[in-house]
Amino acid sequence: MKLLQPDLTVDCLSDLDLADWYGRGIRAIFIDLDNTISPWRQNSVTGEARQLIDKARQAGITVVLFTNAGEIRAREVAWSLGISYYAAAKKPFAAMYRKAMGELALAGSEVLAIGDQVFTDVLGGNRAGCITVLTSPLSEEEYAGTKFLRFLERLAGRKAVFHRRD
Ligand SMILES: [Mg+2]
Repeated sequence: MKLLQPDLTVDCLSDLDLADWYGRGIRAIFIDLDNTISPWRQNSVTGEARQLIDKARQAGITVVLFTNAGEIRAREVAWSLGISYYAAAKKPFAAMYRKAMGELALAGSEVLAIGDQVFTDVLGGNRAGCITVLTSPLSEEEYAGTKFLRFLERLAGRKAVFHRRD
């Protein structure tokens, strides 16, 4: 299914060439929290994520924390990074993406939506018309619900390479 397919898959955030993305019209990044910039349920942020934010600033791209996590955690992390945030974003629903794009006066084609999960980050970003980037999760630990979604992701992935034996 097309909505479950990221436009780009990267192993790590440093693989993204932000100057190049700026050249292609990207003006904002909506970035996921858990397992994308921070190991699961921690408020520590990876050095790589900090570098991404610095590089984005230099390139003229606004980075926004875009997470299903609650207000208090999102605020703490976002403030420590000096970026704005949308908490309880209800990914994969597109409403909060649209709200954020409206507030930034940007179209989906000007936004990179980055995250580690197909069924929230990729699906939500694709529904909102953003350019979606799937990252490798930072840690194996995650919610039981997420583990189930990973199982479905694997099934979805497997389906694509299934060869019928008649
Ligand atoms: Mg995540």
